[in-house]
Amino acid sequence: MKQAAHSIDQAVNSAERHLAAIAVSRGIGIGRIAFLDGEKRQFFRIDLEPSQIDAEISRLRQAVAESIRQLSELAANRDPDKHRSISDIFGVHLLIIEESSFIEKIETVIQDIAVNAEWAIKTVSNRYLKQQGSVPGDHFREKYLDIEDVADRLLTSLNGSRPAVHLTEPDAVIVVHELRPSAIMELAKSKPAAVITERGGWTSHASILAREFALPMVTGIHDLEQVLLQRDLVIVDGINGQVIVNPNHETIASFRAVIADNGLAVFLPEGSNKGTLTRDGTEIVIRANIDLPDAYNMAEKLGARGIGLYRSESLITLPGVIPTEDEQFAAYRKIAGIAGDAGVRIRTFDIGLDLAGGNRSTERNPSLGLRAIRLSLSDSAHFRTQIRAILRAAASHKIDIVLPMITGVAEIVRSKDIIKEERELLVNAGISVGDPGIGAMIEVPSAVFTVREIAGQADFLCLGTNDLVQYLLAVDRDNDAVAEWYQTLHPAVIRAIGDVLAACKDAGITVSVCGEMAGSPFYVPLLLGLGARELSVHVNAVRQIRHLVSGITIQKTIDIVDKIRTLETADHIENALREYYLQHWSGLFPTGLLDSKHR
Ligand code: PEP
Ligand code: MG
Repeated sequence: MKQAAHSIDQAVNSAERHLAAIAVSRGIGIGRIAFLDGEKRQFFRIDLEPSQIDAEISRLRQAVAESIRQLSELAANRDPDKHRSISDIFGVHLLIIEESSFIEKIETVIQDIAVNAEWAIKTVSNRYLKQQGSVPGDHFREKYLDIEDVADRLLTSLNGSRPAVHLTEPDAVIVVHELRPSAIMELAKSKPAAVITERGGWTSHASILAREFALPMVTGIHDLEQVLLQRDLVIVDGINGQVIVNPNHETIASFRAVIADNGLAVFLPEGSNKGTLTRDGTEIVIRANIDLPDAYNMAEKLGARGIGLYRSESLITLPGVIPTEDEQFAAYRKIAGIAGDAGVRIRTFDIGLDLAGGNRSTERNPSLGLRAIRLSLSDSAHFRTQIRAILRAAASHKIDIVLPMITGVAEIVRSKDIIKEERELLVNAGISVGDPGIGAMIEVPSAVFTVREIAGQADFLCLGTNDLVQYLLAVDRDNDAVAEWYQTLHPAVIRAIGDVLAACKDAGITVSVCGEMAGSPFYVPLLLGLGARELSVHVNAVRQIRHLVSGITIQKTIDIVDKIRTLETADHIENALREYYLQHWSGLFPTGLLDSKHR
């Protein structure tokens, strides 16, 4: 494949352009654009040398042969009970591959545009879908799904079970409509310079992961293919929220100076092996939210005490491919082994039908649909498998279980019954098990209103502010178009957080704030003033948050809460916080943080 044809320092001919964006992961990245595409599988556009074209066409032909083999097998399994029989569907897919000009057109694109097979498949299937869009009715929808399915099968055959995304070029700036969390975990290994997406918000999982990997990221740039070109040189400014296309030399130099200035994140703070105390002596427990187990080693060096949130769905790298009990057991033992005595809180799968392998398109509102604990309780086979794996791993390690998207007491009671049943079955079979604590995520309004009852059933609670803001304010956390309405400082959010913290104090159980709010210095004094004593933050925030906490007093955080108590809008609260910080603690915040917007 073609290597980087131009270095970043090479002269730039076109005029510099600035595009406004929303910053979702702080930092600056300078590099050349690499387009990534695909919904279920994400892949890059790769420009080929003329000498590579024939090999790419035979790669495609092998994938076609494999797809035909699979489809013939599937088409032979006729199921007489089904309305539109399975064999009919796969028969149609076979026809698309064998008798239409679909494959021929894909080969032409590889030949004429000199791009990889994945990109060519996407180009041709998009063209088909556009043409079919002019035919109205259900018939169109079925055809649409057929073409998409065939394209997806070809893409899978091209890559086998290997992940489809891997970068070869250094300093790539990944451009994609929406980034799948599994793709970013794969990409982070080759250390791209930055990410630009069209869709997504500050608390989208891809943004959360970008922060965990210290990867600058911006979102909210529309018509990506029109405003950016493959291999354009860009600066991604994840501090001020902008992309600079074809920057001139002075601009590059000034941003490089900012990078040099901010490259302090890896230095260990003094006393990193001690607990974190405020200046007036209150201990604040700082844990880490971890997706890749090895990241905990760094978090621990920086002073984190245990893993406050392990999103177990990070084990699902392909839709519908749920790891087996033994695979999960090994993964949980590994992460718990790394966390050691400080322990890990494993959240059970917080997934929807898309990742579970069902048909998400039947759901109009996936965020309100069959997801998280609802999916676990309605398809309890997967839940039981996961619970068994956790119970077995807990035999020798400190592990707690966290249940996601709890809406009331009934779901915890049912989950606890299942956990008890599985535990008994394992014990009766002579298999060693542990006795994990059971906690609930508080992240939907009904859980806030019934938090005292929930606290009566749980060993601890985790306050998920990302979803709490989404569900309390009815604002999609993944939709940049409504980013203005995603107001972490809305008075309703602050009141809800205060109520949950107070209820846990009364019930005598611990609660950790584990949403992104806990990892952002702007919100931390407010959280402490409301009563938070445990924060679980992404690894790159550990150092900053500990530094901030050890520079402030609880007394002053209580003053802050008093000052904002009567304010009626997020804007007013934001201004009051900024004013207070500038007056009392300006030196404790990272450069530029108090200048940017934090609603
Ligand atoms: C949250 O909702 O705040 C949370 C921590 O979980 P997630 O971001 O995975 O939904
Ligand atoms: Mg959540």
